[in-house]
Amino acid sequence: MVTTHNLGFPRIGAHRELKFALETFWSGQSSTDALEAVAAQLRARHWQDQSGLDLIPVGDFSLYDHVLDMSVTLGNLPARTRSFDDDAIHAYFRAARGRSAKNTEGHVAAGEMTKWFDTNYHYIVPELDAETRFQLNATRLLAELAEARRQGVTAKPVILGPVSYLALGKSKDGSDRLTLLKRILPVYASLLAALAHAGATWVQVDEPILVTELDDAWQNAFIEAYSTLDTGSVKILLTTYFGQLKENLAVIARLPVQGIHIDAINARDEVEALIKLTYPSQVISLGVVNGRNIWKTDLDATLDWLEPLSQKLGARLWLAPHASLLHVPVDLAFETGMDAEIRAWMAFAVQKIAELKILAGALTYGREAVATALAAHRDAVKSRRELARVNNASVKAAIRDISASLGQRRHDFETRAARQAEKLHLPLYPTTTIGSFPQTHDIRMARTRLKKGQLDIEDYKNLMRQEIQRCIREQEKLGLDVLVHGEAERNDMVEYFGEKLEGFTFSQNGWVQSYGSRCVKPPILFGDISRPEPMTVEWITYAASLTDKPMKGMLTGPVTILNWSFVRDDQPRATTCYQLALAIRQEVLDLEKAGIHIIQIDEAALREGLPLRRSQWKEYLSWAVESFRIAANGVADETQIHTHMCYSEFNDIIAEIAEMDADVITIETSRSDMELLDVFETFDYPNQIGPGVYDIHAPNIPETSQIIGLMLKAGRRIPAARLWINPDCGLKTRQWQEVIPALTNMVNAARALRAGQASHGDQDLAPLLEAPGAFPS
Ligand code: GLN
Ligand code: ZN
Repeated sequence: MVTTHNLGFPRIGAHRELKFALETFWSGQSSTDALEAVAAQLRARHWQDQSGLDLIPVGDFSLYDHVLDMSVTLGNLPARTRSFDDDAIHAYFRAARGRSAKNTEGHVAAGEMTKWFDTNYHYIVPELDAETRFQLNATRLLAELAEARRQGVTAKPVILGPVSYLALGKSKDGSDRLTLLKRILPVYASLLAALAHAGATWVQVDEPILVTELDDAWQNAFIEAYSTLDTGSVKILLTTYFGQLKENLAVIARLPVQGIHIDAINARDEVEALIKLTYPSQVISLGVVNGRNIWKTDLDATLDWLEPLSQKLGARLWLAPHASLLHVPVDLAFETGMDAEIRAWMAFAVQKIAELKILAGALTYGREAVATALAAHRDAVKSRRELARVNNASVKAAIRDISASLGQRRHDFETRAARQAEKLHLPLYPTTTIGSFPQTHDIRMARTRLKKGQLDIEDYKNLMRQEIQRCIREQEKLGLDVLVHGEAERNDMVEYFGEKLEGFTFSQNGWVQSYGSRCVKPPILFGDISRPEPMTVEWITYAASLTDKPMKGMLTGPVTILNWSFVRDDQPRATTCYQLALAIRQEVLDLEKAGIHIIQIDEAALREGLPLRRSQWKEYLSWAVESFRIAANGVADETQIHTHMCYSEFNDIIAEIAEMDADVITIETSRSDMELLDVFETFDYPNQIGPGVYDIHAPNIPETSQIIGLMLKAGRRIPAARLWINPDCGLKTRQWQEVIPALTNMVNAARALRAGQASHGDQDLAPLLEAPGAFPS
């Protein structure tokens, strides 16, 4: 007899119903009641989708973010959001987005958003300080619990645990977050009591922070927290996911909780030890269905492993997905357009619930009882393993042939820089952009019409060529030094390449929540990667033919393609990344052959792939950096390789970034006022660098003097001869009328700096910024 349950269900809706309901509400076109009605419909439908499970999560639904929900439950919304005398829902959205719906008062600073562990989901960071007081507000949870129970759902409320809540929060005054533990625990105790009173038997308390490295103080906080919460009012299922517990396993085993959920996908080898450490009445919940990818589970292999455990544990054994299903799309049933063979390999949230039921059926009644379902799975899993479209012998051979020399430039940076200077004739402080120019309404319309078959491919291409022409004309007028084609033909920097590579497929409805109402539809990488033909050469060479200025070719790097896709689980991520690297390398070499001598390979998502545990960073970085090197470094000395990363925390990985050996790196800096360049004080970054001086995430136009100031700051850390001037990131989300004045100011700043340098030599120019007339503007 095995108990099945789920940790969390996607809330956005199979057709993104929540997204549209939210956006209508925010725009002032619908009422709170209308929004709540959609939310209630979605909850009801999702509970229905999970029916047949023994316990169904309640409270995992959220209008914006589950961490923000917990802040509300704990009475910890920032004070600035509470000073308006209106509905709770408006305060909630104000904390999330800085404002509520149109026509409501009060704009405040939005809550900070950051990545939820190593997923692409972003949560609103709880704000804490020494004065923080907590006060229970269980309205939402109790209402949803009652709602579920009215619908006959055997509900298991889900909450974020006290230690993870504090750990995920940010101390605004530098005080120790753990001093708040004593204040937060009574509120949690009352919450558990309230849930018990409302009929809950089990409460799922998520403590994902347990898969990260914790010092003694944080480990002890767990002991204190769960001893305090052990009041007998309700049973606690302490829930961990996203990795191994390692040294924290011993901590968990000492906690007086009635059940423990462990990630049996990534930490399967810890299950035996956990069982040994627990006491005989404790529930062991095993996360055996992967909640983070979209592949069918190998049920036979899972059962081979589970059957002896089930014998041993009996009713103590529970089964669940390894993590909340928040990170996968809702229902494969809507993927009618997908290649049927590939579709058969997949499971979205609804299908993953079905897998759990098959596993439980096999364990309870024997495999024969679910023979048909098992056979269907077996065929799918086998076909994915064996099919030729997954296994490309020449790609596998190329991976075997990778040697260290593949990622090695022919000469060192000094030599290359000299040869590049001779070839490119760039001025001091060369100006460039990160690649994309505004994606106008016309461009998007053209793409929609192409997809709908209302425009043929030649007409579409002509429209894109016109856009490229415009983009080149504008850049020449602006006087930029290194031009780009503008990426008009790209819907998305990963999808574009995925569509051109063998080994990828795409869903129509495979949306996954990124934050609030924002969703992404990650490409699905299912097989060995090859590049049937050049992907960008036609566009870049066309652009180059329109100008005498140097043209920068634009590619997305292997690590970023990997990190922003659903990838195969039948080989290490490193192998998949190397395959992508070899494909991008072919493109790089083809661009070079076609006369493109500056090539940028974006690695916007390199940092995102960092493992949760620092002890595992080295391994990841070694193959990630090597993949970039393989993609980039096959070119001649004269060809200049650029890379771009759009974040600013470099301190901890700067040595590895330097090892990528790109000739030029452009990074995000303007928002932090060049603070991040501090790292260059201690680390002698050897190559050229373009610190972003124009924050493209805001509509503001940077002033020339502001840009000069930023560059002078940068110049204190990096010699002027190695500095470039560029925006923070691509301009695709901006309007031409913003881009033109901003880039005009940027080019003027470069000119002023060159003039300043010419008349003042190497002396520190910063003081001159105040001197009238020192910089012609
Ligand atoms: N080349 C891409 C662009 O300009 C880079 C985008 C990114 O870094 N996210 O849009
Ligand atoms: Zn960027």
